[in-house]
Amino acid sequence: MINLDELNQFVRAEIVPLEQRFLQDGFGAVLPAVEHVRTMVQQRGWWCPPMPVNLGGMGMPLTEFAHVSEALGRTPIGHVCFNVQAPDIGNMELLHGHGSTAHHADWLAPLAAGRTRSCFAMTEPEFAGSNPVHMATLARDTGDHYEITGHKWFTSAADGAAFAIVMAVTNPDAAPHLRASQIIVPMDAPGMTIVRNIKVMGEPGEGWASHAELLLDRVKVPKTNRIGAEGAGFTLAQERLGPGRIHHCMRWIGICERAYALMCERAATRALAPGRMLGEKQSVQHAIADSRAEISAARLLVLDAAEKIEKRGQREARIEIGMIKYFVAGVLQRVLDRAIQVHGALGVTDDTPLSYWYRHERAARIYDGADEVHKNVVARHELRKFGLDVRSEA
Ligand SMILES: Cc1cc2nc3c(=O)[nH]c(=O)nc-3n(C[C@H](O)[C@H](O)[C@H](O)COP(=O)(O)OP(=O)(O)OC[C@H]3O[C@@H](n4cnc5c(N)ncnc54)[C@H](O)[C@@H]3O)c2cc1C
Repeated sequence: MINLDELNQFVRAEIVPLEQRFLQDGFGAVLPAVEHVRTMVQQRGWWCPPMPVNLGGMGMPLTEFAHVSEALGRTPIGHVCFNVQAPDIGNMELLHGHGSTAHHADWLAPLAAGRTRSCFAMTEPEFAGSNPVHMATLARDTGDHYEITGHKWFTSAADGAAFAIVMAVTNPDAAPHLRASQIIVPMDAPGMTIVRNIKVMGEPGEGWASHAELLLDRVKVPKTNRIGAEGAGFTLAQERLGPGRIHHCMRWIGICERAYALMCERAATRALAPGRMLGEKQSVQHAIADSRAEISAARLLVLDAAEKIEKRGQREARIEIGMIKYFVAGVLQRVLDRAIQVHGALGVTDDTPLSYWYRHERAARIYDGADEVHKNVVARHELRKFGLDVRSEA
């Protein structure tokens, strides 16, 4: 258990003050301070809550971690201070659920301890990521090894990572959903190259806060580096989706709450004329009222999905998991936009975290499945109730 009041107080006192260093000078500049906070988090027994106790975590259930993720989301470096940042936490959950004993010792234990970072390389620039069964990265079976050749991009946090979990075709002749496997590839393996950190809205980022283009040229790894059965790559990718979606959506709600608080503070204190505050204007009041309602509705939707995952399993909760993705990403975008508008010129500077989030979370409507893909799934399910069976498409 983490007392949420204590956690919120800790985030305000220890992490928010580091934010400006990150926003002005980048991830490398703030890393020593982040490491210091990580030690404090460990001393409090709050480390990596979703991981089991034997891996240094708290064994926290998803419905409880949802609230923690919201609290940490209030600052861009909250999750990384607790070692629950994407994509590492997703990779930890994957390795914990499906990795071999050797994977646990060699890759999971150092990751859960925060001694290493990792990345997840699935999307390829030449193929529509919205149809993930289409990819060219090939893992050729050479007996005891795979020889992997391919081109990936938007591999978040590859810069400085110890390993990538690479999605590659191992069974080219199998049915589309059974063609690929997930394989652990050390980032320093010969043939693995980071081509660049891709500029996102003008910023290449660095370290954990970056997205890389990768080239794999006949990268040789033992076949024992494969996670799960050969051809199980998509099934595993689906499995990591449910809890990952709750983490992301609650993090976004944390961002919304911070943006909302900044907007309200500004509205209450910015004088348009002596004694006449911005918040007295009806349009600003509407921005506040709309944001309040949307954030509260979004939180209830996500908590409902988390409860369904926990009680009935991921398959039963798939519609709720799809629905929260586009709904909360939309709320996030609108709340950030309103908060920036109320701040005026200050809103587009990096003196608050608003513009960082505006730049980097526009992608929330794209990564982890674009809005349209999830809306199609939800609408198909709903239409089936009315007798129309719309064929699944890419
Ligand atoms: C910031 C960021 C971080 C990312 N991190 C990772 C990562 O760590 N690892 C990784 O492997 N990938 C990552 N990705 C890639 C991400 O998963 C893909 O961008 C996503 O799956 C969409 O694929 P695409 O970009 O190829 O868009 P496309 O598939 O080309 O789609 C383009 C657009 O077409 C529309 N569209 C697509 N399908 C449909 C449909 N069925 N109906 C109607 N419209 C549709 C949508 O508007 C969509 O935005 C990241 C992306 C971003 C932006």
